[in-house]
This record gives sequence, C-alpha cells and structure tokens, in this order.
Amino acid sequence: SYVGVHATTFKDFLLKPELLRAIVDNGFEHPSEVQQTCIPQSIHGMDVICQAKSGLGKTAVFVLSTLQQLDPVPGEVSVIVICHTRELAYQIKNEYDRFSKYLPDVSTGVFYGGSSSTKDDAKALKEKTPNIVVGTPGRLVALVREKALRLNHVKTFVVDECDRVLESLNMRRDVQDIFRETPHTKQVMMFSATLSNDIRPIVKKFMQRPLELYVDDDAKLTLHGLQQYYVKVTEEEKNRKLNELLDNLEFNQVIIFVRSSSRANLLNKLLNDSCFPSIAVNGAMKQEDRIARYKEFKDFNKRICVATDLFGRGIDIERINLAINYDMPKEADQYLHRVGRAGRFGTKGVAVSMVATEDDEKVLEDIQGRFSVKIQEFPAEGIDASTY
Ligand code: ADP
Ligand code: MG
Repeated sequence: SYVGVHATTFKDFLLKPELLRAIVDNGFEHPSEVQQTCIPQSIHGMDVICQAKSGLGKTAVFVLSTLQQLDPVPGEVSVIVICHTRELAYQIKNEYDRFSKYLPDVSTGVFYGGSSSTKDDAKALKEKTPNIVVGTPGRLVALVREKALRLNHVKTFVVDECDRVLESLNMRRDVQDIFRETPHTKQVMMFSATLSNDIRPIVKKFMQRPLELYVDDDAKLTLHGLQQYYVKVTEEEKNRKLNELLDNLEFNQVIIFVRSSSRANLLNKLLNDSCFPSIAVNGAMKQEDRIARYKEFKDFNKRICVATDLFGRGIDIERINLAINYDMPKEADQYLHRVGRAGRFGTKGVAVSMVATEDDEKVLEDIQGRFSVKIQEFPAEGIDASTY
C-alpha cells in the first residue's frame, strides 16, 4: 500500500492465535470501520456505547473482545449478553460457538422463555455453568431470582439492541435487576443502529467513562448498497402487487414485513397457496417452531419469510437481498432496522414499501427527511437485476 494508507487487519488487534484462526475460517478478512474503532479499546476492558449502521459487524465487536479477554474458570459466568428476542439470542450464541471453536475450554449457554422451563434451565446451569451466558431479560432474571444463575464473577455485561431493550419498561427493569447482581467493577458494552437522544442518558447510567460512538447525522445511517422504493396501493391491491413483485424481482431470499401475527399467518398461507415457498415467523408461535423456522430460512431451505417486527432487528441472514414492507412500519427507526435485513455487510439489496394510508405516507416522508434518502416510486418497467 502507498504512504498514508494502512489497511487494518485482524492481526493488528493482537488477538489470541485461536481467535485469529477462527476469524480466518469464518472468512473475515478486514475489520469493518466499527470494529476498527471499538475493538482496540474494548479488548482492554473499556466500557462502550456503540451506534453503527445495520449489518456492519457490531456483533463481532463484543464476541471477539469478550473471547479475547476471557480466561475461563470452570463453574463461573464471566460474560453475560442480553438481547430482546429469542431468535437473536440463539443467533448470538451461534456466533460465540463459531468464534470459540479453537478455544475448547470456553462454553456458551443460551436461555430464553418458551421452549424449556425455568426449572430445566436451572438444572442445566447447575450441571454445567457456561462461561458465557446469552439470553432474553425475562428468563435471565427468573434464573437469577432462583439463584440458579450466579453473576458474582461477571467481568463483561453486554446489551445488544440496547435502545429496544431499555425503552421497554419491563425489559429495562429486568436488565437493572440482573445488573445489580453483577460485581461493581466490570466492563459494560451496549449496541444498536439507533440511539435516540432520549435513550443515551439511560444507557450511560450503566457505564463508567465509556467510549461513545454515535452516528449523529441520521443521513449516515442510510445503507448505500440498498435501493429503496415505494409503491402506492390500496389495502385490497396489496396481494396482487406482492405477487407481481415476487414474480418480477430476482431475489435470493426475501423478507416480507407485516404488522401483526395474524396477518403474517394469513399472508403466508396465501403465498403457499400460490406456490411461493414461504414460511411465517411471529411471536404468537410456539418457541420451538420459531427457532425451527428461523433455522429453515437461515439454511436457505425457504426463500420467502413473512415476519412481524420480531425479525425487524438484529437478525442476520446473508442471502436476503430483498425486503418488502407489506405493511409500513409505524415509525422511521423501525423502517431502518427492517430494511437493514437486506444488504448485510455492505452488500447490495432492494427495499420496497407499500404505502396504503395517510399514516403510511407520513412515515415515508419522515424516513426521507430523517435519513436524507430519496425513496423513489417503484418504476413501472421494474429494475435491472444486475444492479442489486
Ligand atoms: P450488525 O449487528 O452491526 O447489524 P452483524 O454483526 O449482524 O451486524 O454482522 C452482519 C454480517 O456481517 C454478519 O453476517 C457477519 O458475519 C458479517 N461480518 C461482520 N464483520 C465482518 C468482517 N470483518 N468481514 C466480513 N464479514 C463480516
Ligand atoms: Mg446486530
């Protein structure tokens, strides 16, 4: 490289060789910007508040830096990671497994409500206490109350999608209760693509002199590899329009967002009846079904997924290159998270939003203003597949 240009590599972070090997195996070549900014500090135990746009690798910031610092003691939980949905908890647990494959003494456990009882989880914890615990707030706090989960050796406390977790008063209370069970001196790290001015002081209350990384210009949150369009339709026209879009757009995998669980099931049935291979995921399903469907979609066994906002954040499925808002989200931040499911890690993608009501139009305008993005009307002639 020429003078002044220095391409950072993961080697520059002086990570354990076992971690570097896993990084290579997983196909990571260069750290992303957010990784370059945070990892050199976070591996030394610094508190971190990190806002960075969707799909650019926030997970690896906390996974790599906690694995780097971890000196596993059998029977002691050293790292706790909290997030808002069970699928995301499951996904994060898999990331830990993938990066700790050459660290045989490190174990990770995941805990969430719905599939196993608190009692079963408590028993599992007693039999083998993982060094890293990932989970949702409700189940984790229940396990803490049962004294099944002991957090007096925790060295790092992580919250992913922290604005979502802390904006919900129930989850916030649970997080505070869990936090109080951990030692006073520890590292705290929190992550999201969106961190409004209202939530920042609440996040900071958990920290001591953190590294603060914000994206203060909302325009910078726009994903540039993502082409964004809207179509004006009436509620009755939505199904025909969707059929048309699915027929005409070349996609690897598509995620279709609707506003309720019942609408997800209905639309999914309709798609299957018209021979589109789709599955639905929503909060009204049994937990086993939810995870099974998440896996089925992630493993590319299905190409179309109809989802509620349950999948609107954090979920990382590499092959999604089309996101459709069959129902417009209620607000701009949620739009950003949803469409960010397409175009992961700077790859290309398309987002199409159906605008049916005056409220939808307001949200559309709000998105364009806040994120300085021009969302074009979907062209009648379609779009050239080579551009996404
Ligand atoms: P975020 O949480 O910031 O939205 P994720 O952590 O889910 O993003 O990462 C998005 C995708 O990018 C994942 O599939 C992840 O494996 C991949 N990724 C992250 N960092 C790198 C990297 N340095 N090189 C290649 N791929 C990466
Ligand atoms: Mg994430």
